[in-house]
Amino acid sequence: MSSSQTTTIQVEPTQQSRLAQVDFNNLKFGQIMSDHMLVAEYDNGKWESVKIVPYGDLAVSPSMSALHYGQAIFEGIKGYKFEDGTVSIFRPDKNWERFNKSAARLQMPEVPEEIFIDGLKQLLDVDSEWVPNKEGTSLYIRPFMFATEAALGVHPSKSYKFIIITCPVGAYYSKPISLKVETHYTRAAEGGVGFSKNAGNYALSLYPTQLANDEGYDQIMWTDALEHKYIEEAGTANLIFRIGDKIITPHGDTILHGVTRRTIMELAEKWGYQAEQRKVSVQELIDGIKAGEVSEAFAAGTAATITHIDRIGFEGQDYTLPPVEGREFSNKVLGYLNDLRYGKTEDPFGWNLIVK
Ligand SMILES: *Cc1c(COP(=O)(O)O)cnc(C)c1O
Repeated sequence: MSSSQTTTIQVEPTQQSRLAQVDFNNLKFGQIMSDHMLVAEYDNGKWESVKIVPYGDLAVSPSMSALHYGQAIFEGIKGYKFEDGTVSIFRPDKNWERFNKSAARLQMPEVPEEIFIDGLKQLLDVDSEWVPNKEGTSLYIRPFMFATEAALGVHPSKSYKFIIITCPVGAYYSKPISLKVETHYTRAAEGGVGFSKNAGNYALSLYPTQLANDEGYDQIMWTDALEHKYIEEAGTANLIFRIGDKIITPHGDTILHGVTRRTIMELAEKWGYQAEQRKVSVQELIDGIKAGEVSEAFAAGTAATITHIDRIGFEGQDYTLPPVEGREFSNKVLGYLNDLRYGKTEDPFGWNLIVK
């Protein structure tokens, strides 16, 4: 981190904390935001101001370019509280790197470490009371950036807002999910924006997901745009399979490179599993399920860490996966990451960024 240019972040504290109104035993995902947010403004080719202010509405112009031409990107990160009150953020450096890759692809300015990482630490310090401390709970952190230039016309916006909002979230007991292999609609193509966490990638997923829901599946398993033969990812999470004795995840720039996926593949390697990032065809998976060689299949993402998959629909046929209780690898990952993120075990990889 360059210390020569430390950004001073002004804090305007709220006059009226909402903390007392929150029922921490009954948190719904994404509903109640913490007292403060970080807001940074980009204009005239540079970041001009960074402030931590009370969470509240923004005034925007109806001609604001993000609303018309879609320059909008985001991240999802989690903060945790240890038993002794320490507040820690899980691998935000990886989110920062990915955020700037998304920004570059959408012709948006990069956000410097002093604003993204230092800003995040200061924001969580100001709102440390909002980080819940019960096992399984966390503070969901949403950094995002959008184009604010008030003018119609397709060109890169001259001005942007970078904002971080946070919300306490409850323990996430995810039920196993069913996936429908999507062989008609496409999420991302080679040369497109599949690897970036931009808002448009979610808008396009809603209609095909609704069709899959109507057929009784929870989510879509996306396949490649060209042949619909290779597996990409599921909804808003990456896919990982255990086939034979290998831990395998699809590879390429048409998928979002998840921090959770990366973490799990790194652990697999450390623990002596054969870990592979490569193309996985739908046929390989289906054949493997039929032969009893697919012992585990799960979606990996920040929200739930691991969501087990129990059923996959492909060409009108359903394929059932083995019971969740016997899934040695994914259950071990979940247990280990929980211990690590709540400070109950050593952090040999330096994955926890301690706020204070
Ligand atoms: C955010 C996201 C993921 C998971 O990424 P994490 O960094 O692990 O949270 C996977 N796929 C898509 C499409 C996503 O938006």
